[in-house]
Amino acid sequence: MLRQYELVDLVKSYDPDADEDALNRAYVYAMKKHGAQLRTSGDPYYSHPIEVAGILTKFKLDSTSIIAGLLHDTVEDTDATIEEIRDLFGEQVAQIVDGLTKLAMIELKSKDTKQAENFRKLLLAMSEDIRVLLIKLADRLHNMRTIQYCPEEKRMRISRETLDIYAPLAERIGMQEIKTELEQIAFRELHKEAYESITARLNFLREQGSDLVPAIIKQLEKDMEEGGVRASVSGREKSPYSIWCKMQKKNASFEQLSDIMAFRIIVDDVAACYQALGIVHSKYHMVPRRFKDYISTPKPNGYKSLHTGVIGPENTRIEIQIRTQEMHEVNEKGVAAHWAYKQGEKTAGKNFRWIQELLEILEESSSPEEFLDNTKLEMYNDQVFCFTPKGDLIGLPVNSTPVDFAYAVHSKVGNTCVGAKINGEIKPLRTILKNGDQVEVLTSKAQHPSPEWDRFVVTGKAKAAIRRYIRANKREQFVSLGEQILERTFKGENLEFGEKGLVGVLPNFEAESVEDIYAKVGEGLVTAWDVLRAVYPSYKQSKIGKVVKSFKVHGFGKSAKKTKADPVQIKGLIPGMAVHFAGCCHPLPGDRIVGIVTTGKGVAVHAIDCKALEKYATEPERWLDISWGDAATSEVHLGRLKIILANEPGALGDLSNVIARADGNIANLNITNRTMSYFELIVDVEVRDVKQLNDIIAAVKAVKVVSYVARSS
Ligand code: MN
Repeated sequence: MLRQYELVDLVKSYDPDADEDALNRAYVYAMKKHGAQLRTSGDPYYSHPIEVAGILTKFKLDSTSIIAGLLHDTVEDTDATIEEIRDLFGEQVAQIVDGLTKLAMIELKSKDTKQAENFRKLLLAMSEDIRVLLIKLADRLHNMRTIQYCPEEKRMRISRETLDIYAPLAERIGMQEIKTELEQIAFRELHKEAYESITARLNFLREQGSDLVPAIIKQLEKDMEEGGVRASVSGREKSPYSIWCKMQKKNASFEQLSDIMAFRIIVDDVAACYQALGIVHSKYHMVPRRFKDYISTPKPNGYKSLHTGVIGPENTRIEIQIRTQEMHEVNEKGVAAHWAYKQGEKTAGKNFRWIQELLEILEESSSPEEFLDNTKLEMYNDQVFCFTPKGDLIGLPVNSTPVDFAYAVHSKVGNTCVGAKINGEIKPLRTILKNGDQVEVLTSKAQHPSPEWDRFVVTGKAKAAIRRYIRANKREQFVSLGEQILERTFKGENLEFGEKGLVGVLPNFEAESVEDIYAKVGEGLVTAWDVLRAVYPSYKQSKIGKVVKSFKVHGFGKSAKKTKADPVQIKGLIPGMAVHFAGCCHPLPGDRIVGIVTTGKGVAVHAIDCKALEKYATEPERWLDISWGDAATSEVHLGRLKIILANEPGALGDLSNVIARADGNIANLNITNRTMSYFELIVDVEVRDVKQLNDIIAAVKAVKVVSYVARSS
């Protein structure tokens, strides 16, 4: 275990200005808090955070990170609180420890690999400060180094998690060293026999003198020198884990694997990389499809190198990586080295500058997004990750709602969702989800997608499903309505009505099926008379202009049965048919009404004496006989009044008081004319029915300042 002064000296070796006092206090605090707790190994628990801090010094992290590393388990495992840590060590340390405590709480239960990918993204998204992630990885590395003390079941679980989650995460931020070590240990635990047999085989080959590494290095060095490229060459056997991966991928035995040696040529600059590559390729046979240029196209984590495979010296298949020293450091140490180079501070002792610059950006950035953009890390800040009740993780774009979540689970779940529990509490469907939320979608078979949802969902899948449903549903209504309109029109003229006649005229209406014709008539794109004249070209229309009032639609529609019991606002419509109140006449329950099939907007409800109806006089097939249903007065409707009142102080106040006392709510008030002596107003009042509006008119008439009041259109 690192002693207190050793740790402080390590930090001071690369950061002479480190806060020595705070480091000392954190070391003591961690020891005191973990007290007599023991690890499974029998070591005192505090040895763990101290070793984690030690790992962090290898990456030359700032003292804030080292302190947070020392304290990383105190809030989770002892009576320490974030507040206490904030008081003792400041805001930054407290925030990092808080982030680490939150990460420790979430746990992935699913074994699905896609889930692992989402979980990695969740960890990235939750590690708002990159240091949270670096400490988490150091924590995992130390736990893996000491895993042999854990019971079998835990060893397997932790190793699997390491291979699925943490090793790829280390790779994602470019920390090759940590990644390789995590993989080695996890592989040894999970596949003991494979590990042992590969290791034994490698040892055997070495003893047999087949260890060609030194000879090949020598040859490659000579090749570079002759070609005039300054280079340093290193070589190694591939790790047992990467050999095993290759065996799995190629379904090959160890004997069949030829390239178990990898060589690295490090040169001065990018131009030299390609020169070196030229030398290798002109001297040795290239193995097809092994050449990769990650210099011109770096990997997403910033990895840069040239890769190639050749039949090299000694007639052995080898892999060669060519890169500059800078690329090499960035590839191995990830963000840390990247920042060091960006600063141009290659001298030892100043490498910690990268974290300082990271902090400066953090402080200067107005938003966390900006910070993440600036660090050039894929932090998935444009996504949120939420758990299903079973523990599966679903990734969604930012601002997603439970409806998006439901559609992401399955279209069926989305189509029937009626509510959602977020972290066990019922929440509105438009609630914006946060990282780590557990979402339970409540469904009901009777539910259908609501057009309302379209306003707040953000995922394409949800939007498409909702719109598809609404479109399909509308068409169903139009088809049903159109069929009834046609049937009535034909029968009204004593003409035979049937699909047979319609099939013959499909091309006239650019229709592909009889249903298409129904839909067009229902939608008002084609009139019933157009269809009738097409089917019976010689028929002479007898009673154009007659208004058929005896027509009842209800009971006909295909979907009428389903919703029979529903309270209806308006009788005579196919349930679910798009309907709206005409803006011209403001019909109220109690008024006699008529429905007009409009072009594309369903049915418009007009008052029977509305002037606008005149223009439909010659299209009786558009008229629907409708009446108010029982439920009509349970909704509010807009009644429109024209009022003239004296232009006196307080006149408008008197008016609105009277309307309010009559239980009417003014929805809109428009002064249409104003003179020295009077106001002329249009007032829209929310009322239940015509009776209530008449009561209001009577009350308004009685007001002294009012000289005129009447319903208006
Ligand atoms: Mn820990």
